[in-house]
Amino acid sequence: MNIFSKSTPYIIAGPCGVESEEQIRSVLTQLKDLPVDMIRGGVWKPRSKPGNFEGRGEDALKWMRQAYEIAQKPFCTEVASSEQVELALKYEMEAVWIGARTTVNPFLVQEIADAVKGSTVAVLIKNPINPDIDLWSGAVERIQQAGIQSIAAIHRGFSSYDTQSIYRNKPNWAIPIELKRRYKELPIFCDVSHICGNTTLLASVAQRAMDLDFDGLMIETHPEPEKALSDAKQQITPTQLGELLKGLVLRQVGCDTVQDEIEQIRQILDTMDAEVVDLIGKRMELVKQLGAIKIENNIAIFQQERWREIIESRTAWGVKNDLDADFILKLFALIHDKSIKTQFDLLNALKQ
Ligand code: PEP
Ligand code: MN
Repeated sequence: MNIFSKSTPYIIAGPCGVESEEQIRSVLTQLKDLPVDMIRGGVWKPRSKPGNFEGRGEDALKWMRQAYEIAQKPFCTEVASSEQVELALKYEMEAVWIGARTTVNPFLVQEIADAVKGSTVAVLIKNPINPDIDLWSGAVERIQQAGIQSIAAIHRGFSSYDTQSIYRNKPNWAIPIELKRRYKELPIFCDVSHICGNTTLLASVAQRAMDLDFDGLMIETHPEPEKALSDAKQQITPTQLGELLKGLVLRQVGCDTVQDEIEQIRQILDTMDAEVVDLIGKRMELVKQLGAIKIENNIAIFQQERWREIIESRTAWGVKNDLDADFILKLFALIHDKSIKTQFDLLNALKQ
């Protein structure tokens, strides 16, 4: 039996990091009566830069176990090595999660798989930081092969070079949905906190995950978010969590499956189209920069050779993706036309 399979969304809440005995006790007291299925708390925190709060380690595990009686809810924590798995098992953590920075590394995932083998611990697997579905599904398979019964995957978004993005880690809904297609029985959760990186977007991303039929949510919850030692900007209080959960509209399952399926595919198409338009916008920004360089150096705006190269490479990419050459040619003629026009507009503006 998979403990994460449930007819209503499985909710995991708790602080980014376990900071003190008092903090975890306060969180548990406040989460006790909320519809929260599992408590999260990082005891080893992977930090991008040295010198930041790196977790309380074994002490935190001790505090969590001692505080269990407050809420009587299972715990999960992040592990990235066999030593950490051994300690998590020693303190009877009901579940461990593999973080995004660990899922990228098959050596580490295998080390964790070997360490959990033979135990009844549940394992949550976050997506790797880069949008590589095979790394993610490879991690799922390694944990399955270790004989673990309770496994769930967590979509926490993907790293991006885009500093203007409204997200900390951009969601790419098509990837977890494809993972679900590959493993029909695997529950897929959404870690809205690490996708958003702030609190304002949390509810809408959580609703989006519900509309896309995700099986659960992970939401960072801290008794005093502004004082949190890690991820202060994205954590909410237990009261705010209660409100967020109450506001979620859950889809009626099974009322009209065809309509549900159509709606689900449309949601993915909406997300993809938003990304296409976003990319075209960014492409035009670069076209403007290029235009400025050409004008400054007196280089012709339209170059036959470059246009030929664009057609050849783009139509070849199209064919590889089952898109006929004529369609790609028309699409890029339109984009290229607009690019050239944008650069001429720049030139004309300078002449005036
Ligand atoms: C976390 O859950 O606190 C965490 C570090 O997550 P991720 O691996 O998704 O960055
Ligand atoms: Mn965090």
